[in-house]
Amino acid sequence: MVAAYIGLGSNLDDPAEQLSRAFMALAQIQNTRLVRYSSLYQSPPMGGMEQPDYINAAAVVDTALKPAELLQQLQVIETAQGRTKGERWGPRTLDLDLLIYGSSIIDTPDLKVPHPGMHDRAFVLYPLYELSPDLEIPGRGQIIELLKNCSSEGLIKI
Ligand code: AMP
Repeated sequence: MVAAYIGLGSNLDDPAEQLSRAFMALAQIQNTRLVRYSSLYQSPPMGGMEQPDYINAAAVVDTALKPAELLQQLQVIETAQGRTKGERWGPRTLDLDLLIYGSSIIDTPDLKVPHPGMHDRAFVLYPLYELSPDLEIPGRGQIIELLKNCSSEGLIKI
């Protein structure tokens, strides 16, 4: 079994409810056990587009699935919760990202792990820190070190 960290985000159709449904869906993935999930965090949208604030969280699972299989399961959950592909950084009912998969570094066209950009995003790092304060982000370093350069301004734990 491998410990995999998943980032969750939503800013449409009752985001807190979307995340709570997504936690339940993660617990149903085959050959995978939901270990813990974080509090919910409210954060301002990235990218300058006019849209509602996001609700974000993170979860850790133990999985026997390969990374591509786990990503596929995440996409099934996104689709089931009404995700439609919109503009990059545009509003979404549910976004699930595979943030970390054990100590693996993966760089394929369909899957990049650790997720690019996660190391400087407060809405990713703070929920992850809540789950695992000792977390090492492969190729990036200790989460506690990354947090020193990442302002939590605008991030509200709810
Ligand atoms: P988005 O839903 O906007 O985050 O982007 C989804 C696309 O990003 C999919 O086509 C995935 O194949 C690709 N992708 C690459 N790396 C990852 C990752 N670590 N987690 C989720 N999606 C990823």
